[in-house]
Amino acid sequence: MTHPFRKKWGQNFLRDHNYVQKILLELGAQPEDSVLEIGPGDGALTASLAPLVSKIYAVEIDPLLVRHLQRTSPPNVDIIEADILNFGFDTLPAGYIILGNLPYYLTTPIIFKIINNSRWTRAVLMVQKEVGARITASPGGKTYGRLSVMVQTYTTVVSHFKVPSNVFQPKPKVDSVVISLTPLSKKNFDRVHHRYIVRLAFSQRRKKLKNTLGDHLNRKLLKVYGDHRPEQLSVDDFIVISENDPSI
Ligand code: SAM
Repeated sequence: MTHPFRKKWGQNFLRDHNYVQKILLELGAQPEDSVLEIGPGDGALTASLAPLVSKIYAVEIDPLLVRHLQRTSPPNVDIIEADILNFGFDTLPAGYIILGNLPYYLTTPIIFKIINNSRWTRAVLMVQKEVGARITASPGGKTYGRLSVMVQTYTTVVSHFKVPSNVFQPKPKVDSVVISLTPLSKKNFDRVHHRYIVRLAFSQRRKKLKNTLGDHLNRKLLKVYGDHRPEQLSVDDFIVISENDPSI
């Protein structure tokens, strides 16, 4: 298909069948599965996945691609013209899986949207290498930040393999990586407050927590964490802090 590539929508289409197969192998979809595909583009992943699953809900923003996909896709693919950030994940059948070679300009908001939704069972996503490193980072390093903490609070994340930039058309400036997310069943805690605490802690990441989170640490926790910087705290430490906040 000849398509006017829209840079503003992060259009880099996968052109290598071996990588399509590797990604689908990682997804491990079963014949009874329903799949949400984010940004199907001109259908590189969609076409190979459709015969393997029960249903694909493919959400694409570009009307030209939507028309192309509607003409070329098999009947078990629903092409939905929408901005994924406005799409209601709740309309999908429980237990669905998620697949996406994500548009780079929107990677972080899409990942936040995924972790804020439940009822999906596995997500396989292609993201730029640097974002993949941030998502999977362990405490202590420069790449560990709000995105690492939030994703790892709600999911088990695994980085699988790199994808070089030369297998895309047009060729992006950066390499990519394929990651998977599996939801964790965590004990109940106040998600909204936890999100606030993590954001506040990393809003000034060079400052010690006694300066950024001072009002939110009780005396005991001030002793434990007060002289730490946010990147030194584990995912569980942030839950402990938000659960024991004396200000609420
Ligand atoms: N899946 C295709 C592939 O692997 O070749 C295309 C991947 S391309 C990196 C990202 C796709 O997401 C493009 O088709 C783009 O038009 C679409 N897209 C960009 N922003 C979007 C949005 N807000 N909602 C839905 N789709 C979007």
